[in-house]
Amino acid sequence: MTDNFDILVVDDDPTVIVVLARMLEGFGRLRFATSGTDALRMAAEAVPDLVLLDIHMPGMDGFEVCIAAKATPALADVPIIFITSHEEDDEEVRGLTLGGADFICKPPRAPQVVARVRMHLRMKQMADALRNAAYLDALTGLANRRQFEETQPREWARAQRSGAALSMLMIDIDAFKHYNDHYGHPEGDRCLQAVARAIRQAVHRPADLAARYGGEEFVVLLPETDATGARFLAQQLLQGVEALQIPHAASPVAPHVTLSIGVASCEGRAALRPCAAADLTGARALLRPEALLATADQALYDAKTSGRRRACFRSLWPGPEAIETPALHGVPVARAPGFPPAAFARA
Ligand code: GH3
Ligand code: MG
Ligand code: MG
Repeated sequence: MTDNFDILVVDDDPTVIVVLARMLEGFGRLRFATSGTDALRMAAEAVPDLVLLDIHMPGMDGFEVCIAAKATPALADVPIIFITSHEEDDEEVRGLTLGGADFICKPPRAPQVVARVRMHLRMKQMADALRNAAYLDALTGLANRRQFEETQPREWARAQRSGAALSMLMIDIDAFKHYNDHYGHPEGDRCLQAVARAIRQAVHRPADLAARYGGEEFVVLLPETDATGARFLAQQLLQGVEALQIPHAASPVAPHVTLSIGVASCEGRAALRPCAAADLTGARALLRPEALLATADQALYDAKTSGRRRACFRSLWPGPEAIETPALHGVPVARAPGFPPAAFARA
């Protein structure tokens, strides 16, 4: 087990803190709080791996801190070991019911504290590893489709609430079947990894999500990013992968590996404003999370059918600005079709 854990010890009695600090030396970073509010503030600043939490404190007690932590998504999975001075069944049941992981009785005894802390840290490590495996693509290390599918409706709802823009890129390697046929599957896998690295390099903001969607298809979800930003990023990606100069002797479009990208943007609720009243009923029906993906997919189809090695753009909201899309730094951009796009007609 590594020794770089972050443990937060919370007790209003400084002597208990001193005793626990001595016992926990060697586990990694130890932080201390003497009140519930301080504990929550410190946990929010940097999420700890484990919290040792006194139940009886003036002001906010340990149970209240636990309730608040479990209601905070970033802290909900952090194990909490309660420190209690009484061995009362009621307290233990209440603590476990609230999501506490374990109990340590005062006065703390070193062997008991060390053994329990070690066990809970190991369990936390295993849970983190499982979570990672469940949400990351094993080949590329990007988010997997599952993570994307869980994130997308959340970001969609957030954008609809706030009126912020939301964009999506659907990225597909050109003639990748030929690449595999020509260079072999293991080389194909290395190519996928290189493209994934290029995507990771181009996608910077913390809220952006780059995921492997399937075989040689990737998606990038761009919260609070409008059409201009999304098209700029698509351009960066096209150039980034071209710059790798990965030889592709079997490609009909270039002697190296190239991408096609479908770009779709929704300007959030703002998009509803310029709409004629008659369109609104249909518009609301269209505003489903899948619509953005379907539109990006259509734009990708545009890119493929118009020659590959390019990005094409479609607005989820086909206002005049979407139809008059300017060329993307020399890369042709397909025009958005009339309303409604075929993607919606199917939906
Ligand atoms: P297009 O330009 O139209 O995108 O043509 P394409 O050949 O890239 O498209 P198609 O979807 O027909 O082929 C995708 C190929 O991607 C099929 C398969 O050989 C390859 N592929 C899918 N997943 C993997 C993978 O995990 N590793 C490797 N090496 N190849 C994969
Ligand atoms: Mg392809
Ligand atoms: Mg494909």
